[in-house]
Amino acid sequence: MLRRVVIVGGGFGGLSAVRALRNTPVRVTLIDKRNYHLFRPMLYQVATGLLSADEVSGPLRSIFRRQKNVDVLLDEVTGINSDQRIVHLTRGDLAYEFLILATGIQNNYFGHDEWRRFAPGLESLDDADVIRSKILRAFERAEEMASVEQAGTEEIRCQLTFALVGAGAVGVEMAGTLAEISRMDLAHDFRHIDPTSARVPTGLIRHDLPEPVCFYLQPAPSLTQQLPLPTVQYQPEFSVRRRQLPPNPHL
Ligand SMILES: Cc1cc2nc3c(=O)[nH]c(=O)nc-3n(C[C@H](O)[C@H](O)[C@H](O)COP(=O)(O)OP(=O)(O)OC[C@H]3O[C@@H](n4cnc5c(N)ncnc54)[C@H](O)[C@@H]3O)c2cc1C
Repeated sequence: MLRRVVIVGGGFGGLSAVRALRNTPVRVTLIDKRNYHLFRPMLYQVATGLLSADEVSGPLRSIFRRQKNVDVLLDEVTGINSDQRIVHLTRGDLAYEFLILATGIQNNYFGHDEWRRFAPGLESLDDADVIRSKILRAFERAEEMASVEQAGTEEIRCQLTFALVGAGAVGVEMAGTLAEISRMDLAHDFRHIDPTSARVPTGLIRHDLPEPVCFYLQPAPSLTQQLPLPTVQYQPEFSVRRRQLPPNPHL
């Protein structure tokens, strides 16, 4: 009788664990609430319309087609009873002898969950869809304001200002890609607005470092005036600039 290993999560961690058990005499059950592996490092490219969903994901069943000691189960783990060695699923329970949890991380709004509906995190293909739609609609709305409503320059500048909070991998990569699509992909697609005038994140504050550090990516004087940040210096080519800030007691 083969021993049963249950692995929860088909991300990088889960896939590595399944592969590591390839030539061992165990029965592996890989459980994921999605039936595909998501290559999260490229998710921001989906959120900005540069890649499609199928370019950053692959069905778990296909990935493990040739690994005979693994079963893939599409379900969500809702709880674990470690005394009885059981995982609770939405459709029943599953016994295990060894359990590997590789469920990844979740966004944290640091007590401000009300921000979620304005600023979705980037964890899933659904999130990427929402963000892509918000970005493209912002340009469409600016075009409409300029062409139909004859809105003023300042209103359009405001409409084309994107603010990102968080200077981890996702924030920095989203910032770079937003700048790229506004200056390259969308640059010539509109009649009444200049997409290259879009202002992409200005100050990205990291407070996980010993001292708060502000990353300046683009000039946006009017936005920075609203934030307690030093004045931004223009950065003609898109590159991240680091600047030390004095400790901020509010961070
Ligand atoms: C935009 C972006 C860019 C990144 N860039 C880089 C980079 O350049 N280099 C780098 O090293 N890292 C990068 N990362 C981080 C990297 O993607 C993560 O560290 C990595 O994906 C974590 O792998 P994981 O297996 O722990 O979790 P995940 O990849 O998040 O996988 C967790 C899995 O668990 C499943 N799951 C969760 N809860 C349950 C449940 N209750 N029941 C069933 N299934 C569940 C999920 O559906 C998911 O498939 C980036 C992340 C993002 C979002």
